[in-house]
Amino acid sequence: MVSAEKIQLLREKISEADAIVVGGASGMSAASGFVFYYKDDEVYRRLAGGLARKYGIHSMFDAFYDRRLTAGERWAVILRTTRYIYECGTGGTYRDLAELLEDRNYYVVTTNQDAQFFRVFPTRNITRIQGDWRYWQCSLPCHDGIYDNHDEVMWLCDAICGDALPEKLIPRCPHCGAPMEPWVRSHVFLQGKFYHREMKRYRDFLEKHRQGKVLFLELGVGMMTPMFIKEPFMNMVYQWPHAFYATVNPQHAFVPEEIAGRSLAIGDDIAVTLRQLLGKSTAEVKPFDGRDLFNPSRVY
Ligand SMILES: [Zn+2]
Repeated sequence: MVSAEKIQLLREKISEADAIVVGGASGMSAASGFVFYYKDDEVYRRLAGGLARKYGIHSMFDAFYDRRLTAGERWAVILRTTRYIYECGTGGTYRDLAELLEDRNYYVVTTNQDAQFFRVFPTRNITRIQGDWRYWQCSLPCHDGIYDNHDEVMWLCDAICGDALPEKLIPRCPHCGAPMEPWVRSHVFLQGKFYHREMKRYRDFLEKHRQGKVLFLELGVGMMTPMFIKEPFMNMVYQWPHAFYATVNPQHAFVPEEIAGRSLAIGDDIAVTLRQLLGKSTAEVKPFDGRDLFNPSRVY
């Protein structure tokens, strides 16, 4: 449980802010129970099927980046994961955050690729820095285009044989015929027109409010990629006269000395913290232990 003083301070900062910039990362989804990306749980085992034992892999990301899988096996994991992302429920942390920010002036920047923020906030208020599983791009990439994959994911998932997609069904680029690739951070990740349009939308929001009372609310950013959200937030608070930094992060809740007077660090569970902020019961929240989630093979 978070102390009453900290909850009260964060409530005040939320209510008096002209603008709230939410930086949401893997901890947001982990606190909702979506841990299969880097943990061996029941969901992961369903997505990996027999590949878990065949290759001795223990999480979805490890399967995604493991080069021993055949192209068809890798696509089986990609398709099952993407289908799960389309069909799973909306995480409690996301529903609670939406309730907390209702009627407020906010913007969300996220490194999450699981589209959970899109369940509860309008697209115009979100920028995704590391892509989104619901889109594909050319793996080269030969052109600047990303493609909604919903319908193809559904039927291709049904075409998986054993634990592999038949080679001839692997999605191909409509321009050059190379295999497609999920539009998520990798060495071929496409940062084209679509990506830059979203980044501009985020920068415009920041620019508009830089002189105002801005609350930077960081939720669960890990230390694998602090340069996308955590460090820019700290830098802006350092430079902007009326900005405030709050981090809710069971693993990495710290603030630099330079902004300590305009910061709040909450090192507790995100789900518990959000419910306390809303005055809801935390009895049913299963506390999340971030310590057993660190996986150095993760790229984010
Ligand atoms: Zn192509």
